[in-house]
Amino acid sequence: MVRIKTLQSRIRPIESRIRSVRREGGANVQLYQSATWRRLSAAVSRERGRRCEACGATQGRLAVDHVIPLNNFGAPFDRSNMQLLCGACHATKTAGDAEKLRRGELRDGIHPELLAFQRGVANPGRGPTFV
Ligand SMILES: [Zn+2]
Repeated sequence: MVRIKTLQSRIRPIESRIRSVRREGGANVQLYQSATWRRLSAAVSRERGRRCEACGATQGRLAVDHVIPLNNFGAPFDRSNMQLLCGACHATKTAGDAEKLRRGELRDGIHPELLAFQRGVANPGRGPTFV
């Protein structure tokens, strides 16, 4: 019985994390498919040029990455929270962020602007407009 209770106390935080990740993932899909994000990320790419800001690579696809991750209170539409990364650097950075979050080195939470965006998506026409 003691073992079962110990296991239950370990499982609960994991279940909570899974729900959080699902919520976050769903919200991010809406963000990354939005006209606002496409317009903003295209402008950032155009202004900064086709170059990975971490390793300098100029070949291949570049991702517009959130320096402070969205699930770590990162501002979703703030250009100073964006960097252009090649596929390899983006994968490394994303894995590192996930590991830091898992270890508790990053706080799990969503920036108020992203919450507002989510409400806007949930209530089309009523949400705030971002430039
Ligand atoms: Zn790179």
